[in-house]
Amino acid sequence: MKVAFPYMGRIHVPLEAILREIGAEPVVPPPPDREVLELGVRLAPEMMCIPFKLTLGNMVRCLQMGADVLAYTSGSWSCRYGYYGRMQQQILRDLGYEYRLLDLRHDQIPFIARFVVGLSGGRLSRAVGRMARALRIGWHKSAAVEEADALARRTTPFARDAKLVRSLLDRVMAEVEQAGTVAELKRLRSGIEARFSAVPTNGRRYAPRVKVVGESFCTIEPFVSFDILRRLGELGVQADPFLTGHRWLGFHGFRIGADDLARAKQAAKKYWRYCVGGEDESSLGHLILAAEQGFDGVVHVHPFGCMPSTVVQPAMVRASQDFDIPYLSLSVDEHTSETGMDTRLEAFVSLLERRSVRPAQSA
Ligand code: SF4
Repeated sequence: MKVAFPYMGRIHVPLEAILREIGAEPVVPPPPDREVLELGVRLAPEMMCIPFKLTLGNMVRCLQMGADVLAYTSGSWSCRYGYYGRMQQQILRDLGYEYRLLDLRHDQIPFIARFVVGLSGGRLSRAVGRMARALRIGWHKSAAVEEADALARRTTPFARDAKLVRSLLDRVMAEVEQAGTVAELKRLRSGIEARFSAVPTNGRRYAPRVKVVGESFCTIEPFVSFDILRRLGELGVQADPFLTGHRWLGFHGFRIGADDLARAKQAAKKYWRYCVGGEDESSLGHLILAAEQGFDGVVHVHPFGCMPSTVVQPAMVRASQDFDIPYLSLSVDEHTSETGMDTRLEAFVSLLERRSVRPAQSA
C-alpha cells in the first residue's frame, strides 16, 4: 500500500519511518517549490489559503508517484484546515484520480485501526508490535530533527559563515533520515550539540531574540515563509518559532504541549475571548508570553486570506503596544516576493538593534 501525506517542514522524516515500520510504502514527494505551488494555484479555488494550494499541488505529485492512499489529519475545525482532506478529495476525484482517503479523525479510529491491522496481514498482535516499534523510531527521528534545527537556529547568528551551519544541518538531517535503529539515533543525538559548537564563531556576544508566531503551516514550512527562520538567523537574530514540526506532531498525536497552549490561551484572554480558528489565540498569547520572557520582537507570519490570522491582527497590535514589544506582521501568498520579504525583515531587525542600544546611549 503506497501511502502519502501532506508535506510540511520535515515531518516526513519521522512519518516516513513510521509508515515503513507498520508495513506501508511511504510516498514522499520532492520538497515544495514554485512549480508545485503553481499547480495547486491552478486547481484550487482562488480564495483558498496558500497551505491548501501547496498541499493540493503536493498531493497531485504524490498521486503521480503512485500513491494509492492519502492520509490527512482532519476534524471539525472552525477554519478550512479540518476540511482539507475532504475538499481536496473532491477536486482530485474530479480530475480523475482514484485513491483511498485516510481521514485521521477521532471518530475514524476504528477505521484507522483496521487499516493498520490490514497492513500486517490482519494479525492484531503483529500490528501492535510493529506500531510500538514505529512510534519509538518515529519519536527519536522527530526529536533528532527538532534538536538539530534548534541548534542551527541558535548557532547561525554567531557563526563566522552561515553557510557552514547550513551544510552541517543538511549533513545531520541526511544522517537522521538514513538511521534505521533507535540505537543509531540515540548515538547521533548525543553528538549533535558538539558538532554545532565546533562551528567557528564571528565574535558577536549578543543577538536579538525574536519569537515567530502565526499560522501553523507558515511557521513550519520554510518554502511558504521564504525560510524566515534561517533568514532571521542570517540577519543576526535568534529566531524561536512558537511551533515546529516535532511539536505539531506531538500535539496532534498525543496532546503533548497542551500545557503550553493553555498558557498561551490564558495570556491572550484579556484581548481575545475565544479561538475563532487556526492559530489566532495562540499567536496572540505567545506574543504576550514573549514580551514577558524578554524577547526583543515578534514576527507574525500568516497566509493572505486566512480569516483567523486576519481578524486577530488588531488585538496583536494592541497587545504589542501594551507590552512594548515590536511586532511585524507578514502576510504571504503566491504573489509575495522574496525581495519584499527581505526588505521588511531587514528594516525590522535594524529597529530591534536600535532599541537594544537605546539604554546605553541615554545612560
Ligand atoms: S488557519 Fe488559515 S491558512 Fe491555516 S488552514 Fe485555516 S484558514 Fe487556512
